[in-house]
Amino acid sequence: MTSLDIKGLTAHAAREMLDRKEVSSVELTQAVLERIGQVEDKVKAFVRVTEATALEQAAEADERIASGDVRPLTGVPMVLKDNMITKGINTTCSSRMLENFVPPYDATVTRRLREEGAVLLGKGNLDEFAMGSSTENSAFYPTRNPWDLGRVPGGSSGGPAAAVAADECIYSLGSDTGGSIRQPASLCGVVGMKPTYGVVSRYGLVAFASSLDQIGPLTKDVEDAAIVLNAIAGHDPCDSTSIDFEVPDYTRALTGDLTGTRIGVPREYFVDGMEPGVESATRDAIKVLEGLGATVEETSLPSTPYALAVYYIIAPSEASANLARYDGVKYGFSVQDADSMWDALEKTRQFGFGPEVKRRVMLGTYALSAGYYDAYYLKAQRVRTLIRQEFQKVFSTFDAVVMPTSPSVAFKLGAKMADPVQMYLNDILTMPANIAGIPGISVPGGISEGLPVGFQIMGPAMGEETVLRIAHAYEQATDWHNMVPSL
Ligand code: GLN
Repeated sequence: MTSLDIKGLTAHAAREMLDRKEVSSVELTQAVLERIGQVEDKVKAFVRVTEATALEQAAEADERIASGDVRPLTGVPMVLKDNMITKGINTTCSSRMLENFVPPYDATVTRRLREEGAVLLGKGNLDEFAMGSSTENSAFYPTRNPWDLGRVPGGSSGGPAAAVAADECIYSLGSDTGGSIRQPASLCGVVGMKPTYGVVSRYGLVAFASSLDQIGPLTKDVEDAAIVLNAIAGHDPCDSTSIDFEVPDYTRALTGDLTGTRIGVPREYFVDGMEPGVESATRDAIKVLEGLGATVEETSLPSTPYALAVYYIIAPSEASANLARYDGVKYGFSVQDADSMWDALEKTRQFGFGPEVKRRVMLGTYALSAGYYDAYYLKAQRVRTLIRQEFQKVFSTFDAVVMPTSPSVAFKLGAKMADPVQMYLNDILTMPANIAGIPGISVPGGISEGLPVGFQIMGPAMGEETVLRIAHAYEQATDWHNMVPSL
């Protein structure tokens, strides 16, 4: 038994302890594994805990620390969402289709964190193939919200977000196609950031909707988000959509200074049906920004109401193409007792995919089929351009825009499973950032009905530093990030 208290422990605080030799990476990792042992039965944040790998990597990290070869995340234990591939370690996407899939190589983010000397604790649960907003679409089991075990953690990165909130890791990586980092961050009371499309390599991220997917950090504070982004951002020749740019030190953006910062509040983001507690927390957060010297003004992004429809044409269309590879031949689940090739293909997909994945494949195939392509897919792409242009226009006047992350706090398990549209509406405030390819962050921004509320900041493409600076200044001026679940 270790006496090390890891509650609320951030990566930067762990770094100081490790560097001062107050604790070794092995001790820190053991303490986190102990915590996992205490709470994981209740939270179910993991698809798999990789205890032996973690202890091995921690021992290696201790050697690196002893030799003075230290990077900011060396020896710090973390979780990867189980759609980021890990060489020799199952990567399931929380799907029967990939339940026994052991990748032969690492994703670029896996490799980069490995090179930093990070410690992999395990793979986080998700909605199957990242399709969902509650982690209830996992083929294995739902993850529970550490603030209230009867409620969802959000999704699809519900496992990684809940693991951070429950102190089952120091930080984690999620992926965000329409909100899957920011919405669970909001519902679990942690920080979650979706970078600009192309800032983080998607190589080895199992593809859902390739023009929208982006990997980003889930952390206990904004400084950690900057530190983790430093480690994973940057050009990758293996991903043709990754941007070739000089990665700045994002922690240098955390100045605490908002004087002269122009912030817009787009009125379309205060939607019908938004919970009053969410709206009032957001209004309060905006006052905090004003108090810090920012100028805040109402603005408009008029095409916002179309974002959900655009997303639910484009994302399923890309998904239907991306998921065509699961044919039971190359890898993954494969039905053997079939009469013909077609029978094998049908049965493999029938048993390998859950209902939401099938729904997306059908929606996407329909939208792309001859005769419907122009009416749906092409039109959605045109509206996507409008949405992107509206953001560009707003960012010629404002440095950033702010709004709630999710229209509601964490809801009860099962509450939205019978009605897909109710589930889809969770991401109504996050999807526009994916459609436009711009960065967005959710930071703890209040408590409503005893549950966390997320405050969202979006910036222009490549505006990570602005978004982080505002998020950090807000965080430092408030106490919300210090509130933790009493699990
Ligand atoms: N909830 C949205 C969906 O189901 C977004 C998911 C995501 O960002 N991966 O598609």
